[in-house]
Amino acid sequence: MTVDGFAVGTAFVFGLLFGSFLNAVIYRVPLGISLLRPSGCPRCETQISWSRNVPVLSWVMLRGRCASCGESISVRYPLVELLGGGLLALSVWQWGLTISTVSVALFCYLMVVLALIDVDHRILPNVITLPGAVVGLALSFFDPRVEWLDALIGGFLGGGLLYFVAWAYLKLRGREGMGMGDVKMMLLVGSFLGWQGALMTIFVGSLVGSVVGVAMIAVSRKGWEYALPFGTFLAAAGVLVAFRGPQIFAWYWSTFAATG
Ligand SMILES: [Zn+2]
Repeated sequence: MTVDGFAVGTAFVFGLLFGSFLNAVIYRVPLGISLLRPSGCPRCETQISWSRNVPVLSWVMLRGRCASCGESISVRYPLVELLGGGLLALSVWQWGLTISTVSVALFCYLMVVLALIDVDHRILPNVITLPGAVVGLALSFFDPRVEWLDALIGGFLGGGLLYFVAWAYLKLRGREGMGMGDVKMMLLVGSFLGWQGALMTIFVGSLVGSVVGVAMIAVSRKGWEYALPFGTFLAAAGVLVAFRGPQIFAWYWSTFAATG
């Protein structure tokens, strides 16, 4: 299937709007604020009028400040909007206007939300991971990208593996190392990416997490107890695997497994 630039461009623009919604989800869900309320400044709660609610541009025009109270608004807001546009455009570019695009884009959006909530609060809310896992499994029945059985196995294998690691850590060290949030997040990842993708996500996420973790310990000298948001690394790995899973596997196979 060929996809023209118009479709990819349109996807990018719509994705910017989805990105605005992702910002609302990231900010509100952990605080228990309704998503139905109109968006406003977190400090003065002035509602943002439609003319000022244009993704990215509004932030640039207002130079990152609230129009009424002058409170500075993090550069993360326009960046998440750009991410929303970029991920949808990439999905359309790779899979065209298909159910696979719906599935992959939704997966990536869930990963963005979980990654940033984990950074902010060190939690991965059940209200996102559990329904997400169910939706992923449901989509696998229509999405030729992943077999439903692989999705089912993926959820339980991904979640089960992390559950085992969490259990083993607790047994060995006598305290909790990894939260159940990570376990439920892998349930979601596996249901979207299948068991192959789930294993790859854990592998890549752990690898990147370890490298960053060691680097942060070296810089900050906070020691091994410094808790990194593991969900954030799983999320980044999940997005990478969603787009480039087979290529990563082929590269790994040709580099490490097929020699000699
Ligand atoms: Zn304000």
